[in-house]
Amino acid sequence: MLWLRHGQDRSGAYKWKAINTPRTRVMMREHLCMVCTGPCRRKDGRTWWLFVEDPATTPDGMPITNLPPTCPDCLDEALETCPRLIERARLVTVAGTRPFAVTADLYEPGEGFPAPAVKARHELHIQYGPDTAYWMRFALGKQPWLALEDMRDESVPGRKTARC
Ligand SMILES: [Zn+2]
Repeated sequence: MLWLRHGQDRSGAYKWKAINTPRTRVMMREHLCMVCTGPCRRKDGRTWWLFVEDPATTPDGMPITNLPPTCPDCLDEALETCPRLIERARLVTVAGTRPFAVTADLYEPGEGFPAPAVKARHELHIQYGPDTAYWMRFALGKQPWLALEDMRDESVPGRKTARC
């Protein structure tokens, strides 16, 4: 599978709506804060994660996300910057993560040779596994999805409850 590129720019301020695929992949793989790029791991090894609402879940109830974590130092900034977070924020920690799926476009060879690849499917949600391994060779990855292990609700520091 190839991953979508966004030019050569891998820096800059986080934009809530805009997905920068290379930056997001690093943030999620290294558990770095989406606001400041600092580490989000606590001393006990658990990783902070902030959600606008409840994370999506797999059919068997495992929470999954396509968003990087947020560190404690940036909680206030995140809550102030994103209007949707103030309405319904959920702060959790997780024991670990593992790659779960990818949102990807699928391409197929164009007619003739040589010919550019042609997009055949737009933004499919493809779960990793033996059943989908074949299709990954045609995939252009746009958003990684992680499964979140042992997710626990946490209190926002300085606030009374995890839910604002
Ligand atoms: Zn941060």
